[in-house]
Amino acid sequence: MYQVCSNCVMDTTDSKIEFDEKGVCDHCRSFYEHTLPNWHVGERGGVMLASQLDRIRKNGRGKDFDCIIGMSGGIDSSYLTYVAKEEFGLRPLVFHVDGGWNSDIAVNNIERLVDGLKLDLYTEVIDWEDMKDLQLAYFKSGVPHIDTPQDHAFFATMYKFATQYGVKDILTGANLSTECVRNPVEWMYFQSDSVQLKDIHRQFGTKPLRNYQVTSILWHKLYLPYVKGIKSWRPLNFIPYTKTDAMTLLATKFGWQPYPQKHFESRFTRFYESYWLPEKFGFDTRRVQYSSLILTGQMDRREALEKLQSPAYDPETIHHDMEFVATKLGIGVDELQRYFDAPNKSYTDYKSSAWLYEFGSQVMKLLRLEIGGKR
Ligand SMILES: [Zn+2]
Repeated sequence: MYQVCSNCVMDTTDSKIEFDEKGVCDHCRSFYEHTLPNWHVGERGGVMLASQLDRIRKNGRGKDFDCIIGMSGGIDSSYLTYVAKEEFGLRPLVFHVDGGWNSDIAVNNIERLVDGLKLDLYTEVIDWEDMKDLQLAYFKSGVPHIDTPQDHAFFATMYKFATQYGVKDILTGANLSTECVRNPVEWMYFQSDSVQLKDIHRQFGTKPLRNYQVTSILWHKLYLPYVKGIKSWRPLNFIPYTKTDAMTLLATKFGWQPYPQKHFESRFTRFYESYWLPEKFGFDTRRVQYSSLILTGQMDRREALEKLQSPAYDPETIHHDMEFVATKLGIGVDELQRYFDAPNKSYTDYKSSAWLYEFGSQVMKLLRLEIGGKR
């Protein structure tokens, strides 16, 4: 039976959702019971932040930069970059990974911000032949999480860079304010799972990967932080962060342009999250994004329900997007359509380290090292 949460807008398209007698879902309960009590943006957050910042500034003395910021051009990473330079007094190297699908707005936003803040930008361009072969392999595999090749490359190259240049701190725009509800694992499986990535490429790829960087959960969650001392952390969780305020500030100061939807800085992700995922699988990531904003008081539930009435893509122009994606991947629209019509698969149809992720998230919860994880 179809049901939508009475508090947020998550619904039974998330097959593991559980409602209580008041019709409130487990995403909401987890937010109120676990996330909120452990999330400190006030004085307590300030103290935790200050000691981290001290350490980073000290570590960076005499070096060209003291940390790396992973920058997509989206609002979270853009605002983080601004805050890091102007409010934290850090000297970040802005690290951008070009997976071949940057929108013009993204390129423009990154340039304006980096120039305006007088920061250095390092762009790593992913080998396009590798990316193409991997993305096609994911389309052929029938799984929903076809954004993995981009996302995996973003993190793997950033970690590799940090290792090569001895940078100890990686700052990311990941945050609870706009992402306290996470995409369910069945919608978007863990993109860092190299076992699954390799299995899908082994079955559906057409040639060996030449330069594509592969990371693994053990390498970046255990080896890098605890052996090499390279830590990735999320400063936006320690300060008040409101999406619309951040957008207004960046627009006024730098001419930064907003996107119609989260993650639309990549043309592939726009196609994938607005069309492929909802139309082929029934998974609408706006439900997750809006629910996060509702829980953090940044959006009205009625407004969210209203917006969800119309599709995230424009039916008038979607065939242009189909053509753009197909052409860029070197296939015809008919072939892309065949992948769309093929039976849906899930991450469980391929090899994975799912058990390790589950185990890891239990441990993190017990040690209270992470709040607001996936389920
Ligand atoms: Zn809910």
